[in-house]
Amino acid sequence: MNFDETPEQAALRAEIRAFLDANASRKTGTDADWSRGPVDDSHEAAEAYMARCQQWQRTLFDNGWAGITWPKEFGGRGGSAADAIIFGQEVAAYDVTAGFLNAALSLVGPPIMRHGNAAQQERYLRPLLRGDELWCQLFSEPGAGSDLAALGTRAVRDGDQFIVNGQKVWNSEAQHADFGILITRTNPDAPKHRGITFFIVDMHTPGIEVRPLRQANGQSHFNEVFFNDVPIPVENVIGEIDNGWPVTRTVLTSEAGLIGGGGGVAGFATLLETARRFGRTDDPVVRQGLADVYARERMLSLMGLRMQTFIMNGRGRPPHPSVMKNFMTQSSEIKTSLALEIEGPDGMLDRADAPDSGFWQNAVLTQFASRIGGGTNEVHRNMIAEGALGLPRDAQPDKDLPWKDILKA
Ligand SMILES: Cc1cc2nc3c(=O)[nH]c(=O)nc-3n(C[C@H](O)[C@H](O)[C@H](O)COP(=O)(O)OP(=O)(O)OC[C@H]3O[C@@H](n4cnc5c(N)ncnc54)[C@H](O)[C@@H]3O)c2cc1C
Repeated sequence: MNFDETPEQAALRAEIRAFLDANASRKTGTDADWSRGPVDDSHEAAEAYMARCQQWQRTLFDNGWAGITWPKEFGGRGGSAADAIIFGQEVAAYDVTAGFLNAALSLVGPPIMRHGNAAQQERYLRPLLRGDELWCQLFSEPGAGSDLAALGTRAVRDGDQFIVNGQKVWNSEAQHADFGILITRTNPDAPKHRGITFFIVDMHTPGIEVRPLRQANGQSHFNEVFFNDVPIPVENVIGEIDNGWPVTRTVLTSEAGLIGGGGGVAGFATLLETARRFGRTDDPVVRQGLADVYARERMLSLMGLRMQTFIMNGRGRPPHPSVMKNFMTQSSEIKTSLALEIEGPDGMLDRADAPDSGFWQNAVLTQFASRIGGGTNEVHRNMIAEGALGLPRDAQPDKDLPWKDILKA
């Protein structure tokens, strides 16, 4: 691995630090950091948190640090992936976040940049990048998740608009969104990967009903979204009618990169501090668990450094993103479970009754999501088998059948 920075990279790092020092405060390392999320489970707290995220995104945009790798013509900085890594390393020390806006940029920006027309790029990209308009992803359905191309939400052409009926689910932050990227079935006679059309939908259109889902940790990150005769103008189609799968693939590829690079919950130092406080560091079983968590964290960090070396210096081979994602999510499960075991009976409490106001309890409940979002661990194992190990592809008996003839879940 080679971490030598070029003079240009060192100068950029200094410039980033100067910007952050002038516009943000350093993390204090306590659970009170606002970058960790809303302070409670109320809708008001979620709205206030979103407003702070938007404010930080505006600060980034107005100072030329939003969309570091986005082309300048779309309002970005026109920088490299290495520039984005340097920014990420520096900003991690500060108590700021754009929250879900970060994910929205990665999900919505690439399809509009790559497949949208000039009018769509002009209308949507800058307000997205500045955080002025909030977005959600309307892909998954009760019968279409891992097998996304099975989706059944129907869009039927009616003059210069489409009329949409159906249901989406697990839509992150849809209750706050102004717009959504939506995939629909427009040709049921074609095989499932064809006959799909990709839209931008105004979430304030009559006929759209957003129902928040309450999760085990008390928060409502996800929603169900129902479409009842929702009109969408033809001009909102991204790419070609009936050929929305390549546009969808652009989103899925970007999403996998986003989640594969994620950091997970609190680190080893926090876990060790918990073990010391509970007087458990002499317990041989706990010590064994701590060593496992420490080793996993080192391995993850080395995988990250290999990726960094490849991106910044073009050297070596990067780890397979599916390996990184699965190792990261499995390690989160092991770490958070050990934390509750260390807390003993107190580990069964929650919120104000629990140690550290339920810090580890919340971490245990939220880590499940990372094993499902952006492709489940099982689906990523398939990708490792096919993409890295060269094993035969998963059987796809319905691939060439007309969608309408496929047995539905
Ligand atoms: C944090 C998070 C955020 C999300 N945000 C959004 C969002 O904003 N918008 C949106 O549209 N969706 C979103 N989702 C939904 C997500 O994309 C789906 O949950 C995911 O694709 C899995 O689909 P599913 O839940 O229908 O499970 P299913 O696909 O039904 O899977 C059920 C089980 O079967 C296994 N399985 C399925 N296929 C295979 C296979 N071929 N081989 C082996 N095992 C298999 C899975 O691993 C899983 O264990 C989000 C999910 C999470 C957790």
